[in-house]
Amino acid sequence: MSRTIALPGFVNAHSHAFQRALRGRAAGSDFWSWRETMLAEAERQTPAGVAELYERTYREARAAGYTAVGEFHYLGLETALAAARAAANAGLELVCLYVAYARGGLDLMRQSSVDQYLGELEELRDAGVSVGVAPHSVRACPRSWLEELGRYAQREKLVLHIHADEQPREIEECLAEHGCRPIELLADCGCLDERTTVVHATHANGAELDLLRDADSTICVCPTTEADLGDGFVPAVRIHHREIPLCIGSDSNMRIDPLEELRQLEGIARRQDGRRGIFTTDELWQIGGANGARALGLVSWPDLAIDLDHRSLDGVAEEHLRAALVAGCGSDVVVA
Ligand SMILES: [Zn+2]
Repeated sequence: MSRTIALPGFVNAHSHAFQRALRGRAAGSDFWSWRETMLAEAERQTPAGVAELYERTYREARAAGYTAVGEFHYLGLETALAAARAAANAGLELVCLYVAYARGGLDLMRQSSVDQYLGELEELRDAGVSVGVAPHSVRACPRSWLEELGRYAQREKLVLHIHADEQPREIEECLAEHGCRPIELLADCGCLDERTTVVHATHANGAELDLLRDADSTICVCPTTEADLGDGFVPAVRIHHREIPLCIGSDSNMRIDPLEELRQLEGIARRQDGRRGIFTTDELWQIGGANGARALGLVSWPDLAIDLDHRSLDGVAEEHLRAALVAGCGSDVVVA
């Protein structure tokens, strides 16, 4: 019987569970060619397929120490209900970040109007699913949608999540259409407050980061996915300097390991700054857990258990346990 210790569970604030099916597929030489493969996979999804694939993916996430997930869901209403059931079966708290998609993408992702979107969101709420408002991006939602969704989220006190500044092309297109950068547009449309989470912010400039700081919004970083897609490095040091809350997400699920997300975040910060210990151990654990819960509007979420007799922890004193987990362990130290 091995010794175990309970710690707060990790919170996966940004997941697209269907993309787990793409693990190991090279899928092109840049983000945009990968996106073609990803859209083809999205088009194949059915409620029955989601029920099966998502439960397997969520069980993998639960075994890796995630005990709550924000599923950023753009595959329609029926599959959203199937995802919620899959998470319950896997023992994971789920918040459905139900996606508003006006243009681009696939037919199955889009709604014809904000009213149609809000009707679907209300159906999920009526079915007892915890939800957040999730305009996909400034690419997929025009200004009028962003304004209306921002108002709705504030009135209903719901969290609002949106991808922004993941790719330089997205910023160029936003500048061409609106004359400002993505996070500036969000501020202008009333989409930034303390319940807002911007996903990625990889290419955010100083003025955009200042807007997030002033609004007390959160940034969700997904370092393993951002590395896999060649997105770039999150401006970790500049974010830390501004004390903008961070949380983590497994995003494409090509890797599911919260300890690795945190280790990569700290590694990026060290490489950017030429110093060590940019984020304290306490801060990294808060990024992995409590900040993600806040971003999803969760008050509580389950603990996880660590196997103290795991070989990776051999010789580690108890007072160094949490630092050693982030510095030197994989998620196989979690008791599944
Ligand atoms: Zn995403």
